[in-house]
Amino acid sequence: MFSYRHAFHAGNHADVLKHTVLIATLRHLRQKETALTVFDTHAGAGLYRLDGDYAETSGEAADGFLRLIAALNKPAVAVGKPSTAAKSMANGLAPVIQDYLDLVASFNSKGSHKVYPGSPFIIQRLLGERDKLKLFEIHPTDAKTLSSNIAQLEAGRQVAVLREDGFEGLKKFLPPPARRALVLSDPSYEIKTDYARVVAMVADSLVRFATGTYAVWYPIIPRPEAHDVPRKLKTLAVKAGKPWLHASLTVKSSKLTSDGAGEVIRPGLPASGMFLINPPHTLKAALQLALPQLATVLGQDQHATSAIESGG
Ligand code: SAM
Repeated sequence: MFSYRHAFHAGNHADVLKHTVLIATLRHLRQKETALTVFDTHAGAGLYRLDGDYAETSGEAADGFLRLIAALNKPAVAVGKPSTAAKSMANGLAPVIQDYLDLVASFNSKGSHKVYPGSPFIIQRLLGERDKLKLFEIHPTDAKTLSSNIAQLEAGRQVAVLREDGFEGLKKFLPPPARRALVLSDPSYEIKTDYARVVAMVADSLVRFATGTYAVWYPIIPRPEAHDVPRKLKTLAVKAGKPWLHASLTVKSSKLTSDGAGEVIRPGLPASGMFLINPPHTLKAALQLALPQLATVLGQDQHATSAIESGG
């Protein structure tokens, strides 16, 4: 426990997917006047340096956000063979990807890519005056960093940092006063029980507040608990009679073939997904344009792909 630090992973391909979906979802929810409460059950430190020791050690942003930036500066080289997605990029970047890039750029001086905003800062940037943000972070060091990062915003009572378990802590806030909420749940899955806990949290939340929008990130890795997450969330949505959307981005195969030794697991995260219950009705069309472009640019081998399905 407590060995996961998001600073190593900030700006990786999973963050690109998660934050693109998050921004598109929030933009839609913000169109209504009624106050919105946003919960980030696993907030992290809030802001990251891409030129710092953590990010440079892992190099994950180089295969994620920074790769996207590089591809846009040199599309002919980075995009590779002209696929349908490459052609669609030549006609223009999907608006939700452009929105994501613009938002990250707003944390940096022109042309520099040193700072990467985590979900707390992305969300806060998009809130309206009456909206509220509740951030849960259990890691003592990251909770402290998050608190001091958030303090600099001078956002007053609009943003609260809670140093507690986000799975449990969410319960006391549902339903929110104005009955409009987005719950982002982005566990580290450092402990195996996180897979079951995130599903149980959504099940409990749907009972307390069935009309909230729930967005869960999960890794697509060769272990049964990970595959169970979207399957179980879909069952919850269908039983509750609520619409759902499942988006995934694969950048490489999860396996390497070694000489005569059969298949071995390839290091690094190969793919991840976002599962939403009560998603914005505009999200599917927006992602149908964006996800193939992300797979084209962030793909590391011929297994790179994206998928999107929805129901309800
Ligand atoms: N959502 C962040 C973003 O997009 O920038 C990244 C979050 S990171 C994937 C997961 C975070 O959850 C880590 O900082 C970890 O310390 C924290 N964490 C782990 N278990 C937790 C729990 N039960 N409750 C709250 N936070 C937890």
